[in-house]
Amino acid sequence: MASKVYDHLKQVPELPQKVNTKKTRPKKIAWVDEDNCTGCQACIPFCPVDCIEPVPADKYTWPPIPPVHVRENECIGCQICAKVCTKLTWDAIRMVNTNEYEERFDTIID
Ligand code: SF4
Ligand code: SF4
Repeated sequence: MASKVYDHLKQVPELPQKVNTKKTRPKKIAWVDEDNCTGCQACIPFCPVDCIEPVPADKYTWPPIPPVHVRENECIGCQICAKVCTKLTWDAIRMVNTNEYEERFDTIID
């Protein structure tokens, strides 16, 4: 039983050694399904460009622990947060094609 748990955790990405910044437009970016996010913040320290944060405090009146969101223009599409969320906590992050993201949310990603 214990070995199964350790095998599961082996697939969790390493924490980044330093914070980087985006250099090119990614093919996919991370989108948090806020209705499905527990707000545990486990994903935040794993992001190599530090672009995950709790949503603004006034966005929801419930639940008391707010979900997180991704600052979309800073995401490099590495998928680490999605793996961390799936392996350590929940399954609230989707990797979305950048063109489709722009259409869906009527925005431009640099
Ligand atoms: S790890 Fe998943 S559930 Fe936890 S804050 Fe991040 S997106 Fe939300
Ligand atoms: S995919 Fe996730 S971990 Fe990677 S840069 Fe985007 S928000 Fe950060």
